[in-house]
Amino acid sequence: MTGELFIARTLEEFSAHISQRMGDAEARIHAAEAETLSAQRSDPDAEPTTPRVATLGFVPTMGALHDGHATLIERAREQNDVVAVSIFVNPLQFGPGEDYDKYPRQPDEDLALLRKYGVDIVFIPELEVMYPGGEPLVRVSSGRLGTMFEGAARPGHFDGVLTVVNKLFNVVVAAAGPHRGRAYFGQKDAQQVALVQRMVADFAIPLVVCPVAIVRDDDGLAMSSRNSYLDPEERKAALVLSRTLALLREEGLSRGYAGIDVDAARERISDRDGVDLEYLEIVDPKTFEAPVENSERATALAAIRVGGTRLIDNMDVI
Ligand code: AMP
Repeated sequence: MTGELFIARTLEEFSAHISQRMGDAEARIHAAEAETLSAQRSDPDAEPTTPRVATLGFVPTMGALHDGHATLIERAREQNDVVAVSIFVNPLQFGPGEDYDKYPRQPDEDLALLRKYGVDIVFIPELEVMYPGGEPLVRVSSGRLGTMFEGAARPGHFDGVLTVVNKLFNVVVAAAGPHRGRAYFGQKDAQQVALVQRMVADFAIPLVVCPVAIVRDDDGLAMSSRNSYLDPEERKAALVLSRTLALLREEGLSRGYAGIDVDAARERISDRDGVDLEYLEIVDPKTFEAPVENSERATALAAIRVGGTRLIDNMDVI
């Protein structure tokens, strides 16, 4: 059962409404359990039930929501009693000259999507709410993993991501209770998922990170708020990225890791008019180093530039 979407603008409102909705959910669970229990009294063979606690699904985003975000929200809705989404274009994770100012902002469309998917609470803070008095002095350092691939192309990006995610997690955990929260992140940003998982482990943050598979358009392009920057020609050219990753996956599945021709794949992308390849590598998605004997997975990871737009994508090849 879900209620009205509540729009929280301050940390206090966000926190208070999570607590309130969690309390309501818990009361409903207790009422349902009391009913089961009274039915059991007249059934001597009934198994005893284990009491269940309410859980919170949390989906942090930068807005301009699309079907990729919707899939994270749906997963959160299926698995939890209360669902909260945040929308905040976080300046700390944009480098100088990047697209912070022109990043798409469409609050009305976003609210309509959140209502459609039965979200309970959306947190939409102004800059001063998240960073009163300007940029924070103390930040999370993303370490070596934060300097590779996306971190090499965008210095400081992952420190900015982890700093804001850590702050949001602190609010969510305090309001929902420890071990009551699940946070949903897309595999589209594979390095972000790995770093958030590491931060949760390294800082002993009592919530669970749930990765969700990449959502693609029908033609294979990974959905992204930044796809709106592409004109029709650029969008067509961008398809070389997902198509090449899919070829690598086919090679990996049919011939094994040794049968994957990464150089040919790099050439295929570079040869496409209007596309510049930044990187294409196959890595273990936990370490982002080359896969080793006991790696559970191997992932082809790539970034390209099409016109002024930077796009990333990845696909498991083993
Ligand atoms: P963003 O608003 O771009 O910061 O994304 C918010 C969350 O949605 C992140 O966890 C992203 O990885 C996830 N996400 C964005 N695009 C996709 C997609 N195409 N498939 C799955 N998850 C996505």
